[in-house]
Amino acid sequence: MATEPSVKDITKLLDNTSNEDIELITRAFNYAKKAHDGYTRYSGEPYFNHVFETAKILAELQAGPSTISAGLLHDVIEDTNITAEDIKKEFGKEILFLIEGVTKLGKLRYHGRDRYIESLRKLFVAMSQDIRVLIIKLCDRLHNMRTLEFVPKHKQLRIANETMKVYAQLAYRLGIRKISRELEDLSFKYIEPVHYNDALKIVKQKNKEALEKLEKFRKSVQKALFLEGITTAKTDYRMKHLHSFYRKLERKDFDADNIYDTLALRVYVPTISDCYRALGIIHSTWRPLPGRIKDYIAFPKPNGYKSLHTTIFTGDGSIVEIQIRTPEMHREAEYGIASHAIYKNPTTGNIENKNLLWIKSLLPAMAKLEEDNDNVIQAKEIPNWIRDMAELQSGAVQEEFAQNMSADFFQKRLFVFTPKGDVVDLPIDSTPIDFAYAIHSDIGDHLASARIGGKMVSLDKKLKNGDIVEIQTNKNSKPSAKWINIAKTSMAKKHIKDALGKNPGVKINPRIK
Ligand code: MN
Repeated sequence: MATEPSVKDITKLLDNTSNEDIELITRAFNYAKKAHDGYTRYSGEPYFNHVFETAKILAELQAGPSTISAGLLHDVIEDTNITAEDIKKEFGKEILFLIEGVTKLGKLRYHGRDRYIESLRKLFVAMSQDIRVLIIKLCDRLHNMRTLEFVPKHKQLRIANETMKVYAQLAYRLGIRKISRELEDLSFKYIEPVHYNDALKIVKQKNKEALEKLEKFRKSVQKALFLEGITTAKTDYRMKHLHSFYRKLERKDFDADNIYDTLALRVYVPTISDCYRALGIIHSTWRPLPGRIKDYIAFPKPNGYKSLHTTIFTGDGSIVEIQIRTPEMHREAEYGIASHAIYKNPTTGNIENKNLLWIKSLLPAMAKLEEDNDNVIQAKEIPNWIRDMAELQSGAVQEEFAQNMSADFFQKRLFVFTPKGDVVDLPIDSTPIDFAYAIHSDIGDHLASARIGGKMVSLDKKLKNGDIVEIQTNKNSKPSAKWINIAKTSMAKKHIKDALGKNPGVKINPRIK
């Protein structure tokens, strides 16, 4: 076993810390260590290691002291005897709010029904209420995925699927590429083990041949830039992660020679104009491949990504992609929303204001992104609920907007669960009748009774966010005329009318393929 975890392992990862920051993190560290004492993980290691590693990932993202402390404490309420009251007394309202948010998100599960997946992602965002909750949850999942091999086999696939479809997607849309890449590769290994091993083998082979040449080329680039007066350039390279490599391989008919960006050279220069100068110097020294020059500085990708890309003939028979950017662009590209100052310096006690900026920065990122063959990512149809928020934003006084934000979202949308945890989203004021028809027209047509959270309710009961709704059917039950006025969705109303025989015809349920 490695050395005993120490609070310094966390704080040394932070760019800057005050004495108060260290004091808070140390208190959370000791509190969590004591609370989890005696508990172990599937791997047999102390449970505390999990929250310690989660906090370390948060520190790498340069999270603030409250976020890191909440990361250390994120499992104490759920898994130990510590109560919410204890945490509030010891660490205050803000940290309690973060921990409770993370605990709530932990209850959402993906059960492999793709028709609910977008709703589930939305629900994650909506329920987080604060970007920091979502980020802690992502770091928590990242560590769980790193240790997935110890989890019982029958659970691994479900967790890996959920990670790929929900967590990696959200990390990607938030621009936290560093986390989305690792989550994708870790899930890929469990979801498609054969393809994963294929990809690993090909990449290893390709890199073995290419690395030595690339190292030589890297030095030539550094020298060329230096001679032209760019003396502070830094260079390194990145390897394409396995999941995206494999998806590209599929698109290129499994011709690995046709993929030029398994390895890419990165050039970091201080300013934007240095980026363009560096590109000029490189193009006047090596011949670029036509059609592969991308100016993502003038035209950033919809998720905010900025860089200059070019692919050149190195002269020794190889072709290399070069990415030129400033250190600031690099930090954005790797950490996305997590790199924003607002998140690093939360003003204590004023959660709404942080909400505002969080939702705002989500607007472009939440657009559906599609990658075409040329790697150009285009925004496709922004979901309506995002557009609603954007409209609300225009003209509204910022603070007012912040106050209305969360309320407004829930004034329009309702997220409820099936007993298995699938998410169904309905318009506000929907009833068990709407819910039943949203699941399946047959369930609606034979709806006999409904329970919410295990308690029998009347069929005109208005559903609330987070309700777990259970429907009992009976083959002799039939819709009654009263239901038409009770139902909120037009789909339910239509089915009820059909069933009452006023509008006989073929039953259509658009939610069933
Ligand atoms: Mn956890």
